[in-house]
Amino acid sequence: MEIHKNNRHSNFGSSAPNLVHRQTKASDTVINVNGIEIGGKEIVIIAGPCAVENREQLLETAKKVHSGGANILRGGVYKPRTSPYSFQGLGEEGLKYLSEARKVTGLPVVTEVMDTRKMELVCEYTDIIQIGSRSMHNFPLLKEAGKCRKPVLFKRGLMATIDEYLLAAEYILSEGNQEVILCERGIRTFENYTRNTLDLSVVPILKRQTHLPVIVDPSHGTGHSWLVPAMAKAAIAAGADGIMVEVHNKPLDALSDGQQSLYPEEFTQLVKDIEKIALAVGRKIYHFQPSPA
Ligand code: PEP
Ligand code: MN
Repeated sequence: MEIHKNNRHSNFGSSAPNLVHRQTKASDTVINVNGIEIGGKEIVIIAGPCAVENREQLLETAKKVHSGGANILRGGVYKPRTSPYSFQGLGEEGLKYLSEARKVTGLPVVTEVMDTRKMELVCEYTDIIQIGSRSMHNFPLLKEAGKCRKPVLFKRGLMATIDEYLLAAEYILSEGNQEVILCERGIRTFENYTRNTLDLSVVPILKRQTHLPVIVDPSHGTGHSWLVPAMAKAAIAAGADGIMVEVHNKPLDALSDGQQSLYPEEFTQLVKDIEKIALAVGRKIYHFQPSPA
């Protein structure tokens, strides 16, 4: 098909199944998570702390992002930290707090899994599994995610080309899980003013090349909370199906990524601004709020 021929340097061999490509499936994949559609007409907002730190922090932040317009709650319990001496996450205790936050707010939750041995446990607790940037090349983990029956929020590797990223996603689909949400979170370049360089051109490219939903994480993409609103709005203008942003009830006390975390009030304002951008590009924000169980 036209789209594939135009891809000037694809590593997809002509005999490869290419399950991620539009040539295989022309219609957009829409992923339904507890009634919230990701990849449909509406923009999805995922928000929450970088890490689940304790019960109070998570519940307070969850309630605030819920009232500010989030559709899905994020929070890491297994953290891929650069230093082994940094806070590594609460593990299963954190998963229990995420469950409680889901019950209180009604928001589905997404959390990262880094280790194949934890896949089953994380799947029991979460609505969406996150595979982080550092794990993009962890093929055994991708295969495990492909076998489980939960949608996968799959981040682009910090040094991955688009073809490498799509071939990694192919690992998940090839194991039988078609519910993959692609997420641009910035790539490493020579520029060090920002934590990463947020590659927004990847949004229309991925929307053209694949049928999968595409979201953008401007928090890790920039590393500075003051840059997050501008890049979140730009992502929606570029055609993203949603954003994932870090929000903390007390960013100055955060155990990880406080400098890139929005205050709840900033998040609430951002959602209002995104609503206007969404309308300008013929979309709207998802307003369906599942009622608490
Ligand atoms: C995260 O979202 O918590 C995270 C660690 O992001 P990334 O994998 O993009 O660094
Ligand atoms: Mn983070």
